[in-house]
Amino acid sequence: MGGHFKLRVDIRSMHENVTGSCTLVIVHAPEGKIKFLIDCGLYQGEENADELNRDPFRFDPEEISFIIATHNHTDHVGRIPLLFRRGYVGKVHTTKDTAKMLRLSLSDSEKVLKLNAEEYGLTYMYSQSDVYNALNNVIPHEFEQEFEPVPGVKVTFYMNGHLIGAALTHIHIAIPGFEPVEIIAMGDYKEDNNFFKVKQLPNSVFKSNVHIITESTYGYVDSTEAAKPVFAQNIVEILEEKNLVLIPVFALARGQEVLYELKKMQERKQLPMDIPIFIDGKLFMDYCHLYRYSLDIADEMRDFYPKNMNVMNKDHREEIIRSRSKKIILTTSGMGNHGPAQEYIPMIVERKDSCIHFVGFTAPGTIGRALLEANEGDEVDLGMCSKIKKCEIRFTGEFSTHAKRDELLKFFKCFSNIRSLLIQHGEEDVKDSFAEYCRNKLDNCKSVEVLGNARTVVLDSWGIKKIIDERLRCNL
Ligand SMILES: [Zn+2]
Repeated sequence: MGGHFKLRVDIRSMHENVTGSCTLVIVHAPEGKIKFLIDCGLYQGEENADELNRDPFRFDPEEISFIIATHNHTDHVGRIPLLFRRGYVGKVHTTKDTAKMLRLSLSDSEKVLKLNAEEYGLTYMYSQSDVYNALNNVIPHEFEQEFEPVPGVKVTFYMNGHLIGAALTHIHIAIPGFEPVEIIAMGDYKEDNNFFKVKQLPNSVFKSNVHIITESTYGYVDSTEAAKPVFAQNIVEILEEKNLVLIPVFALARGQEVLYELKKMQERKQLPMDIPIFIDGKLFMDYCHLYRYSLDIADEMRDFYPKNMNVMNKDHREEIIRSRSKKIILTTSGMGNHGPAQEYIPMIVERKDSCIHFVGFTAPGTIGRALLEANEGDEVDLGMCSKIKKCEIRFTGEFSTHAKRDELLKFFKCFSNIRSLLIQHGEEDVKDSFAEYCRNKLDNCKSVEVLGNARTVVLDSWGIKKIIDERLRCNL
């Protein structure tokens, strides 16, 4: 293997900002181009998300050799069934735990998209049979076990604290006669996770010459300035005065994190055991079940449920909410727009003895964002109805599972030689400022470039050769 010729590899982000994650890699092998995708997610929360999701892919799905799914978040995997519907015939390579969860996330995406299409009189984006087709073509892999999806491209998944099953993906492209090209695709990244111990990348990877494709969601803030933990104190304060706390959660990861935090509060005696905790939402409970019995989480974390936790009986939902005894309710969705949260919020928002506590990002246009921005006494549009905001609203960003910019920098500094650092998956100005930050602070990195904006970065084993603006040419 190896050789004197330099191999051309093109990298193009097919998404501009944070959601809709999709990166196209084109290897210019002498026998023909090899094209593959890293993730193919749904656009979410953006104003024109629906339009972006339905747009034709800016590549031919039939020409894609394989897909790598870095982790089971909808903004990274939610358009995979659409890809199959539009002619993709290859495999989806992912980790074992992501493979176990894809059934839930893709079926849920299909349901949500269907409801959305019905509401706006649009055609369905994809069907359950497209979901089954995608699931039937998933190939699960162990961490640290190299596989070769097509001859010449070797892939290894390493652990990533962002989410259970999430991978840091090492791609080693070795075409006979050419110098190999190595890429690390970070997906979304965090160093650690409460639910499992993250094994570091091996030294051999840190010592190799790599191109890194990184996210930059929090590329504007240092960990020291990021959200401080306030959740536990908030809950204590709220329950002193009020009867009901509603916590809208994401079904996967955030919900389990919050349950674990409530359990720790009980152990610290911050939360009396006699205050019942109700959970509601089928997808949320399905993920809880996987955490307890199926996914590769630490044994001591399997029992993350707090005491006095009850599954909400739908028939008693209204009665339980109306009663004035103290209680905590966790339900989906995290931004309030889907799931049972849509029913709870209108019942609670006009009650002064209640609080809705958001625990994650709320996109513009969602019920969560509207509530956070409204003043007391304002009329708030809750989708199906409008109500006067009388309850308290709180928020914390402490449960974030993305590395902040200094934490990303710390990771990049572990490498001996970064040929290029390619920044994507962030708001436009954040990507630019994070690029500048990395240029100033990294002395082990040859060049830093921002992906997106219809730019294709052309690289070889040594570094970036050129950048092509796709708006000027269409056929790569
Ligand atoms: Zn993610």
